Amino acid sequence: MFYLIQNALGVFLPSHLTSQLGETCDIRISNGVITEVGHNLLATSNEQVIDAKNCVVYPGLINTHHHIAQTVLKAIPEGLDDNLGEWLANVPYRFWPHIEPKLMYYAAVLGFSELLRSGATTCCDHHYLYHESVTQELEDVVWQAAEDVGIRLVLCRGGATHAGSHRGLKGSNIVPESIEQMITRLEHSFDRYHQDQVNPMRRLVVAPTSLIHSSTSDDLKLLAEFARSHKLKMHSHLLEVEFDQIQAKDKYGLSAVEYAQSCNWLGEDVWFAHLVKANQQDIQLLADTGTSISHCPTSNCRLGSGVAPVIPMYSAGMNVTLGVDGSASSESGSMIQELNLTWLLHRSLHGPKATQVDQVINWASKNGANLLGLDNLGVIEIGKAADLVLYDLSDYRYWGNHSPIYAPVMAGEPVKIKASIINGKQVVDNGQINGLDLGEIRQNLKVAMQQLLTKAS
Ligand SMILES: [Zn+2]
Repeated sequence: MFYLIQNALGVFLPSHLTSQLGETCDIRISNGVITEVGHNLLATSNEQVIDAKNCVVYPGLINTHHHIAQTVLKAIPEGLDDNLGEWLANVPYRFWPHIEPKLMYYAAVLGFSELLRSGATTCCDHHYLYHESVTQELEDVVWQAAEDVGIRLVLCRGGATHAGSHRGLKGSNIVPESIEQMITRLEHSFDRYHQDQVNPMRRLVVAPTSLIHSSTSDDLKLLAEFARSHKLKMHSHLLEVEFDQIQAKDKYGLSAVEYAQSCNWLGEDVWFAHLVKANQQDIQLLADTGTSISHCPTSNCRLGSGVAPVIPMYSAGMNVTLGVDGSASSESGSMIQELNLTWLLHRSLHGPKATQVDQVINWASKNGANLLGLDNLGVIEIGKAADLVLYDLSDYRYWGNHSPIYAPVMAGEPVKIKASIINGKQVVDNGQINGLDLGEIRQNLKVAMQQLLTKAS
């Protein structure tokens, strides 16, 4: 496919921003690759022209932490004011034994659509609905939904190999998988779905749900061995709240991050969601080993968990990336919301020079791509994969703005997406996802959600 994006107000480029007044920018895309960025480019006869008048263009955002199943568990009344421990028991763990493949598919289509609408082009879904007798279909439908929506999916294969100290898991009567089951099923998913090629649409990650609570240290070591022998990345939750630190100290006499190291769970191929309670010593160890963070500020605010020390992490050289977390604790499911909040939140703590907009955009694009080993994504540059998003600034809420290239992040939601291109294919056109009947999804969702409520009551 061949596209020429014409007349953009500005393009977010790695080295500079082309947003001078009166000069518009064009981008040429051929067969999935960015081939030219410049001014006044002329369309050839085989190119489809996308008019980017009043638009700015960003690299597609990379969401490094999500639980797409939770798209249908927003604002559950019993969990509105819970802290993490209570909320886990009252919301996700209460419902997930009842989530069947059909509902999972609709939830995934909806969740991926929400992400596209907010400027994301890649989603890491930390999918944890696994237990002893789970059906493979519950995972298959997530891969299928991503393909149907047109988004890149990095499926972080979660699950537990023991109930341990996890209140939510214990209370839900879910029988965890054995480590043998988990590894056999991982192998199956690897063979069936993982793409090793450049610019993959599908990647698999080894991701036990919680590093401290869902597996023993021996199991974690086996999972690390499996991941590294298959060249897969590794992901988990860590230090979202103080409980992880307390448990690691009580059980192992180590800090949570030291414990991760003792299980071979630190390194450039590892990232953790949250790390809200990481102290300076933890941060140094994470930075020294090249371990990354997925910063999910909306969810951390919503659950009252605190604010991750992202500025000290950045100063120490850690790779900072952004995620939306599951929609049961981040009802917006929007990457732009996370960028906006990241930009604001750390200024409130550290002053107005703490974050810059371009830095935050890089965290949500280039850094995510680096972490995932998707080196061709996350930047708009000749030769890179064409994953990019046009934000339409025609609305009156932007008329007074003097820095259009920064407007989507500084003004936050609602953003309007004129076009999204993923892997060189246009998937969003004037806010609509190509080939997707969301009306039909809504009808089916209504029925499936009602059944879910009945079963979980
Ligand atoms: Zn999470």
